[in-house]
Amino acid sequence: MANKIKQTLKNYWLLWTTISVGIVGLALQLFGNACFRVPTPKGLNTLVPIVTCPVRDFVAPITIILIAWLAILVTMIKTREMVRGLRQGNFGIDILAIVAIAACLITQEFWAAYIIILMLSSGETLEKLADRRARHELSALIKRRPQSAHLVIDDTISNVPLAKIKLGDRLLVKENEVIPVDGVLTSSHATIDESSLTGESMPVDKSTGDKIISGTICQTNKIYITATSTAANSYYSQIIHLVEEAEARPSHFVNLANRYAVPFTIASLIIASLAWYMSNDFNRFAEVLVVASPCPLILAAPIAFVSGMSRCSKRGIIVKGGDTLEQIARADVFAFDKTGTITTDRVQIDHIDSTRGYTPQMIVAIVAAVEANSTHILASSVINYANTHNIRPAPAHSIRESTGGGVFATIDHRRIVAGNQAFLESNKITGIPTNLHNQTSVLVAVNGKYIGAIYFTDTVRRGSKSAISRLRHLGVHDVIMLTGDRQQTAERIGHAVGIDKIYSQLSPTDKVKIIDNYRQNGRRVAMVGDGINDAPVLATANVGVAMGVMGSTVAGETADAIITSSYISRIAELRFISKRTMTIAKQSVVAGIIICLSLEVVALFGFIPAIAGAFLQEAIDVLTMLNALRANK
Ligand code: ADP
Ligand code: MG
Repeated sequence: MANKIKQTLKNYWLLWTTISVGIVGLALQLFGNACFRVPTPKGLNTLVPIVTCPVRDFVAPITIILIAWLAILVTMIKTREMVRGLRQGNFGIDILAIVAIAACLITQEFWAAYIIILMLSSGETLEKLADRRARHELSALIKRRPQSAHLVIDDTISNVPLAKIKLGDRLLVKENEVIPVDGVLTSSHATIDESSLTGESMPVDKSTGDKIISGTICQTNKIYITATSTAANSYYSQIIHLVEEAEARPSHFVNLANRYAVPFTIASLIIASLAWYMSNDFNRFAEVLVVASPCPLILAAPIAFVSGMSRCSKRGIIVKGGDTLEQIARADVFAFDKTGTITTDRVQIDHIDSTRGYTPQMIVAIVAAVEANSTHILASSVINYANTHNIRPAPAHSIRESTGGGVFATIDHRRIVAGNQAFLESNKITGIPTNLHNQTSVLVAVNGKYIGAIYFTDTVRRGSKSAISRLRHLGVHDVIMLTGDRQQTAERIGHAVGIDKIYSQLSPTDKVKIIDNYRQNGRRVAMVGDGINDAPVLATANVGVAMGVMGSTVAGETADAIITSSYISRIAELRFISKRTMTIAKQSVVAGIIICLSLEVVALFGFIPAIAGAFLQEAIDVLTMLNALRANK
C-alpha cells in the first residue's frame, strides 16, 4: 500500500506539485488578506481588527512567486519534451500553451497562467492513466491465473502447484474455478464460461472427450479433466505471455493532434497577434492564447483509443497498441491465409490415395513418422489419425522441414519427401498424377517417386463468408487470399467465402513478395493469418492479425493484434471498432479545434477576460473527453 502511494506520487509528481501550489495560493488569497474583527459597541457595522494576518502584506508576492516558479518548471519540462519530439519529426502543440503561460505572466494574470499549467499537467497524468486503463481488461485475465490445481490420484485429492502438473494427470475443477491447463473432459457433462477468451457471454456445453481450454471458467459443480498440456505451454499461459508483452509496450496512441498542430498553432498565433495589433494592448494577445491552449486536442485522441482498445479486449481481441487500431481502420486490402484461417484449425483426413504397392496405412505411417516434429495443423491431424487407428510410424531420421512446403526425411535409408505439389515438383519427384483432387493434401514420395497422397476435409470456418462481406461494407477495397495450397483447392475455398482474388502455390517468401508489392503500390495491407508459416507475412503487412487457434500454439509475437477465439467474425468487428475509434478521435480533435478557433475570434474582440477564458477552456476539455469516451460503446 505504502509502496503504491509512493509510486503514484512519483508518477504524477508534476500534477501533485501543481495542485499543492494551487491550494496554497488559494488559501493565501482567501485567508491571507483577512484579519479577525469584532464588532464595537458603536454598532454591529463597525468592526475593529483584533488579529491581523502576519503574512498579509506578502500574499500577492508569495502567490506570484509560487505560480511563476511553477510556470518556469513546467516550461522547462515541456520545452525539453518539445525538443525531443521535434527531433523525431513531431511538432507538438504545447508551444501554444507555453506562449500563453508566458503572456499571462507578463500581463500578471497569474491565475489564468495557473489554470493552463493545471491543464497541461493533468493532461499528462490523464494520458498515463489512459494507458493503464487500456490494459485494464487484459490485466484482469492475468490476475485470475490460478496458483494451484486439484490433482486426483486414485481417490485422494491433493492441491499441487501448477508447475507440477504433468500430461495425463487427472484434475478436479470446482465451480467458478479457472481451468488450470488444457485438457479433455472425462466427466459426462460440463458448462464452461469461455467469455474471457472469446468475448461470448453464453456459456458453452461440453461432453465427455471434448477439449477444455485453460483460462476458461468451470460453471458446473465438479468436473474431471485429463491434462493435455503443462501449465507452461497451456493456451492460457501463451495468452498471458502475449498480454504481458503487449503491456510492456507503450500504447502508441496516435497523436492526431500533432497532425493538426502546425496549422492550428500558426492560426492561433496570427489571431493573437492581430488582437494585440488591433487593440494595441498586450493583454488581448494573452487572452486569445488562453482560449487557444489546446488540451482537448491532446487528450481526446488517446481517450478514444483507450475506449476502442478496451472494447476490443472485451471481445477477446488483444490489441498491442493504439496505432494498430489506426492501421486496421486505414487498411484497404485485407489478405487472408487459407489453411487454419479461412478453414478451421481442426482438419480431418478425408481419404488416402496410394500406388506402387503402398497401402493407405503405409502412407499414413510414413507421413506420421516424418511429421513427428512439425507444428503444422496437417501434421498433427495425420499423427492423431495414426494414433487412433493404431498405426505405428517407423522411426524417421534427418527430418528437415521446409516452411510452407513440406518435409524431407529418411526412413530405412529411403528418402522421403512429403508436402504440397509445388514442393514435390521442385524436388524433381516423378509420377505425380495430373488428376489430383481439389482438396488440401499432403503428397508423398519415396526415393524420388510419388507413392500417394493424404486428402483432408477442409471445413470453412463458420461465419467466414459474412465476415468477408462485412469487411467490404466497412470499406475494404480488396479481400485477397494467399495460400501455399494448389490453385484448384484455393479457388474452391475462396469462392465459397466470397474472395475473388486468389494467389495460390505460394511459398512463405512469395507471400511476403505479394504483400510488399501491394505496399509499394501505395496500398495499406492488413494480413490475417493463423501464425503457422505466416509469421513473416504478418510482419510485412502494415498490420498483422493472428487468429488464435483455440487450444494450440498461438504465434502472436509478430502480430499486432491477436484474436483469442476461433470466431473469424472478430476480424470484421475489429475493423468496425477501429473505424469507429478513428472517427470519434478525429471528430473530437476537429471539434476541439473549431471551438478553440471560434473562441479565439471572440477573445480577439476583447470579450473574454483571461481568467474566464481559462475556465471556458476547461469546460471544453471535459466535453471533448466525454465525446471521446463514446468509442467504448
Ligand atoms: P496456407 O498458406 O493455406 O496457410 P500452408 O502454407 O500452411 O497453407 O501450407 C500449404 C500447403 O503446403 C499445405 O496444404 C500442404 O500441402 C503443404 N505443407 C506445408 N507444410 C507442410 C508440412 N509440414 N507437411 C506436409 N505438408 C505441408
Ligand atoms: Mg496457414
